Amino acid sequence: MKVLSGRASGLTYMALAGQLHYTYSSTVNVGSRVIDKLGARDMAHAVFVAVQLGLLDPRRRHGDHAGFAAHKYRGEEPCDDCWEGERAYRRGRKAARRVSKATTA
Ligand SMILES: [Zn+2]
Repeated sequence: MKVLSGRASGLTYMALAGQLHYTYSSTVNVGSRVIDKLGARDMAHAVFVAVQLGLLDPRRRHGDHAGFAAHKYRGEEPCDDCWEGERAYRRGRKAARRVSKATTA
C-alpha cells in the first residue's frame, strides 16, 4: 500500500526504497505484486484501478497544512507525513510573524 500510494504521488522506486528502508529490487518486487494483485498491466494502470476501488482517495492530500487540517476535520489523528508538514507550516508562520513585527516596530 505504501509503495502504491508513493508511486501514485509521483515517487520513483528508488526514492521509495530510501524512504521505506527497502532495497531497490524489493521495492520493485512489491510494486509488481501490487500490479498483479490489482489485475493491472502496469503501475499507472494499478494506480487507476486502486482509485476506482477506493483503495486510494485522490481527494485526500497528505504532508502539508491542508492534509493536517483534513485529518482533524475527519476526527482522525494526523499521519506522520501531515504532522511533519504541519510543523514546517507552523515554523513558517512563526518566522513570518517575527518578520512583520520587525518591520512594524
Ligand atoms: Zn496525512
